[in-house]
Amino acid sequence: MSERKTITPTHRYRNNDKLVGIGNAFWDTSYDNGVAGVVGDLKDGVFRMADGHEFVNFTVCSYLDLDTHPKVIDGAVESLRRFGMLDHCIPRTRVQTPVVLELEESLGELFGAMVINAVSTAAASTGLLPLIASGHLGNGTRPLMVFDKNAHVSMGNAKPNCADETEVVTSRHHDLEFLEDMCRTYERVCYVVDGSDSLGGYAPVVELAELQEKYNLLVFYDDSHSLSAYGERGIGYVRTHSPVLDERTITVATLTKGFGAGGTAILLDGYSQETRRLIERFAGPLGYSQKMNAAAVGAAMASAEIHRTEELTQLQGRLRANIALFDSLVATEQAESTFPIRVVPMTDETVVEAAKQVFAAGFYTSPVFFPIVARGTAGLRVMLRAGQTEDQIRRLAAALVKAGARPGAAAQAAPAGSVAE
Ligand SMILES: *Cc1c(COP(=O)(O)O)cnc(C)c1O
Repeated sequence: MSERKTITPTHRYRNNDKLVGIGNAFWDTSYDNGVAGVVGDLKDGVFRMADGHEFVNFTVCSYLDLDTHPKVIDGAVESLRRFGMLDHCIPRTRVQTPVVLELEESLGELFGAMVINAVSTAAASTGLLPLIASGHLGNGTRPLMVFDKNAHVSMGNAKPNCADETEVVTSRHHDLEFLEDMCRTYERVCYVVDGSDSLGGYAPVVELAELQEKYNLLVFYDDSHSLSAYGERGIGYVRTHSPVLDERTITVATLTKGFGAGGTAILLDGYSQETRRLIERFAGPLGYSQKMNAAAVGAAMASAEIHRTEELTQLQGRLRANIALFDSLVATEQAESTFPIRVVPMTDETVVEAAKQVFAAGFYTSPVFFPIVARGTAGLRVMLRAGQTEDQIRRLAAALVKAGARPGAAAQAAPAGSVAE
């Protein structure tokens, strides 16, 4: 029995010992302090827990509150009745009802792209990235795959699969110099990056477009955080600002967050119907059985309709006003950004206690601290939404300041006779 082998992992692209070792202590601390594992019913924008505690969730990514919009809810229910099924479980390449096709046509018109829908962004990236790595989605040349260090985990998880098809490297965040160097060295390069970062900030789409023009660089963007919240008709950051919208730019964006429905949209330009079929057949989970189901499609169809109206502009305006109000009351590094996420600075020692206090005051904000973020960058994550009321934001800001946050310019100026620091 002593002859049985022990396995030594290579850990070239992932390491669960490290991931769980670092992350689980963070989660246990959050859970033990009642700021993770929270359960409650949601009604009229307020959560109510079994013990009667009520709170407003300030860390939900539904930036326009479309997930609770009556038309979106009705859209989901009506679609179920109209199509008479949830998901007809068979690869769509064999047999399908028009349910997903109708959505693809609608979103294609809305975003001015060829759209392929999938059950989630994670599924789409899992499927698309290895096809890009092998050159099947692109010009036939296997590209060097450059993953931005901060690329969302749903993209980073595809590294081992891509590495079996081509070479994979990880770059520093938005390192254009390195990228250009790789473009000079390799026949073809694909850069994998978030269009909009989950802690604020956007991809340098204009500078990347220059590299696209000069070296035929392919860029794979995940613009999940800015779809709906940003741009005309909610087209998102990348499609608003990228000068290159052809086969060299591939974008995926979730339909959950700002869009308020479910599933994801793959946005393509300049690709043929053959490529489309190739994706449907070979892009991993896209070729298996589960598609966006009829309820998610109905919700997305209704949300798309809202995107075509003045209401979207109004919701975006309310979101911007709420962001500005929050920034005037609480100081953060992200203040002034159009992006709806803020990290209210705390220390590793104070952040959990601050989250507890703010939660007791009726607001959920999520603490992030070492070791899941670097030392010295701990804080409470706050996400602004269109549907939060002025009163809720003011009361949250007061609770945050009481828990140790630095007041914003308006709050510092406001109370007569108070001494500014
Ligand atoms: C939220 C998020 C996802 C997850 O999207 P799903 O559609 O739920 O898979 C993927 N990428 C980024 C950048 C995100 O912010």
